[in-house]
Amino acid sequence: MSNGRLLMIAAPSGAGKSSLVSAFLERHAEWALSISTTTRPPRPGETHGREYFFTTAEEFAQQRDAGAFLEWAEVHGNFYGTSRTWIEAQLAARRNIILEIDWQGAQQIRTLFQGKAHAPKSVFILPPSLQELETRLRGRGQDSNEVIQRRLAAAADEMSHAREFDYVIINQDFSAALQDLEGFIQQAW
Ligand code: 5GP
Repeated sequence: MSNGRLLMIAAPSGAGKSSLVSAFLERHAEWALSISTTTRPPRPGETHGREYFFTTAEEFAQQRDAGAFLEWAEVHGNFYGTSRTWIEAQLAARRNIILEIDWQGAQQIRTLFQGKAHAPKSVFILPPSLQELETRLRGRGQDSNEVIQRRLAAAADEMSHAREFDYVIINQDFSAALQDLEGFIQQAW
């Protein structure tokens, strides 16, 4: 009996990853999204247990030391981790899971599942340009100027890892990018 599939999706913030993933999940009930734990404070409109499980640095460290995370990383000065027990239970129940994680997490997951049947696949979403990315980050209006500058610098770094991924999608046109994602997933395993 085969396990569920694991798909990792990474992108610099502002590339449109979350919108693409939401649209994909609406159309494909056989896929579910992993909800990460983070020490980042919630943005306006975010709900505990929906976008993330929001927690303190102390609690995060406790969970991490107890082995609760399949992978974890520090991104933009905050910690993020993927629940080990939840993922293992979902895969064993043959459910397909999407992980929205950064390149560091993707590297850990690749190593973890190396040589296993139905190894995880990975997709990297690119914005059309860095300038377009800045426009999108500002338009979102959720982060301070300082945070935006930090994220732009981090975006260039994140994007330098795009080649480590199985497939790269340039999110210029939303519906074309969504089709691209669906096409990749359909034939990935
Ligand atoms: P944001 O704070 O904008 O929601 O996410 C910032 C970055 O953290 C994004 O690149 C996102 O993919 C990444 N991220 C979110 N959850 C996790 C996780 O559980 N593990 C890792 N490694 N990265 C994550």
